[in-house]
Amino acid sequence: MGVIVQKYGGTSVADLDRIRHVADRVIRTARQGHALVVIVSAMAGVTDGLIALARRVDPEPDKRELDALLATGEQTTAALLAMTLRARGVPAQSLLGFQVEVRTDFCYGNARIQDIGVERMRRLLDQGVIVVVAGFQGCDPEGNITTLGRGGSDTSAVAIAAALRADCCEIYTDVPGVFTADPNLVPRARKLERISYEEMLEMASIGAKVLQIRSVEFAMKYRVPVHVRSTFSDEEGTMVVAEENGMERVVVSAVTMSKTDARITLKNVPDRPGIAARIFTPVAEAGICVDMIIQNTRASGATDLTFTVPRADYRKALAIERQVAAEIGAEEVLGDESIAKVSITGVGMRSHPGVAARMFATLAREGINILMISTSEIRISCVIEQKYAELAVQSLHSAFGLDAPA
Ligand code: ASP
Ligand code: MG
Repeated sequence: MGVIVQKYGGTSVADLDRIRHVADRVIRTARQGHALVVIVSAMAGVTDGLIALARRVDPEPDKRELDALLATGEQTTAALLAMTLRARGVPAQSLLGFQVEVRTDFCYGNARIQDIGVERMRRLLDQGVIVVVAGFQGCDPEGNITTLGRGGSDTSAVAIAAALRADCCEIYTDVPGVFTADPNLVPRARKLERISYEEMLEMASIGAKVLQIRSVEFAMKYRVPVHVRSTFSDEEGTMVVAEENGMERVVVSAVTMSKTDARITLKNVPDRPGIAARIFTPVAEAGICVDMIIQNTRASGATDLTFTVPRADYRKALAIERQVAAEIGAEEVLGDESIAKVSITGVGMRSHPGVAARMFATLAREGINILMISTSEIRISCVIEQKYAELAVQSLHSAFGLDAPA
């Protein structure tokens, strides 16, 4: 008998009515003859509320204790769902991270799953019991509770599906699937029937919030088919699967946008070996992730160097670079927080030439200046002025033929 893993996010279990609705879905799936493991998030807003509570005690709460606190959110939902199922006469049992044996490293607040014990879940499934697992949590080799980072119950679900070799991991959420663009920005965005792991990974890394990025890495590594769909309708969602031949027919699958970066420019930097290392080492040591980098050589033999960092780290990075600039004799440091990054993603780019040119021509037609460009094999991103972000997404969506028929 095939195992199905279902994961329900915070909005899907936001109150007791919704938990009852989830129980209906779970019972329906079980009656179709599937062995079922259900992973739950904390009720919507609960994790944020617990973090706020902790900060009232200590603005920088102890990380071990914070994880002990945050794990209670998922513990509550798992118990409530199991209770709801049992009250309907359906055998169900809740399990916490340590009971499943979701073993992680020691990194509180952002732990990585190392391995998952399946014996206890298997035993329950063999007895016809629905297993309800508290997502987002695990335990380190010393038995301490750890959590997997915000949105981490997606990763719990995919990892458990991989460990159980489940037929499918269904991610139930408040949107009907993965779209060609954010429907709030592009009214004619379409739901994708299928998307490859790689495309999903690129999209997750540039601001699409449908799935936690680590869950996609896990799914790709262990080839777990993931079905992203809505809790509130029976409509099919989007299958996230290995790349197939047919996928190449579309050049671009989706257009995304993020306003989470800032840009820093060092002007007139001496052009000699070791300078880039001087510029980037202190930022790295401060734990700041640099994304795009461009360097232009000037006629004078000096260079300008521009790079992006997360907006949250902007002030810190700027202060570091002002110091570096003084040391290496750069002319000045400029910063800009009002930028946006628009990206097009699609495996079809591998086999279709001219995609970048079409992207640039589309932006040019709208009078949008491109400040920076970066590419991967299946993605092209442009940094532009923030005020043009929405316009850029809409025109690229049309230009690449993604608009739904009017
Ligand atoms: N409750 C956790 C969070 O809000 C984990 C999750 O929902 O996936 O980040
Ligand atoms: Mg979530």
